[in-house]
Amino acid sequence: MNNETTKVTGGCLCGRIRYEAEVFLKNGYICHCTICQRSTGQPSEITVPIKAGTLKYLEAEPKYYVSSEDGKRGFCEQCGGRIVWQALRAEDDWLTNIHVGSLDNPSEARPSSHIFVNTQLPWYQLCEELPVFAEEDLDALFEFLKEERNPDL
Ligand SMILES: [Zn+2]
Ligand SMILES: [Zn+2]
Repeated sequence: MNNETTKVTGGCLCGRIRYEAEVFLKNGYICHCTICQRSTGQPSEITVPIKAGTLKYLEAEPKYYVSSEDGKRGFCEQCGGRIVWQALRAEDDWLTNIHVGSLDNPSEARPSSHIFVNTQLPWYQLCEELPVFAEEDLDALFEFLKEERNPDL
């Protein structure tokens, strides 16, 4: 895992939402869960974790849809551009992540794992060299990431 953080900026398609944040740019996820599939209308969602507490909206704030007991999805009400998966509980903020295509320089980001591969579409293969985690493996992965990103906890 590459645990460096990088200052980034980004926003939605119409520009109404603009943000800055410190992110783990080389530690993105490709999430194949069914909620991401429905929410994006795509086979997966690719996101970059945000360093807890560093996400700032510079103009408008997103609208949110609560998509599970853990998180809500922020999007622009004007253009529909999807921006963020925001943890519902403050203590889970280390899991909050930004959608890679909303970054001003998405080419700088690198995914480092596939998650929820148990619902990955069989015809959809990308970044095949990366480690994969099914739903039942995620508790162990997240426990590891939580400790790694929150040395003070
Ligand atoms: Zn917009
Ligand atoms: Zn997902």
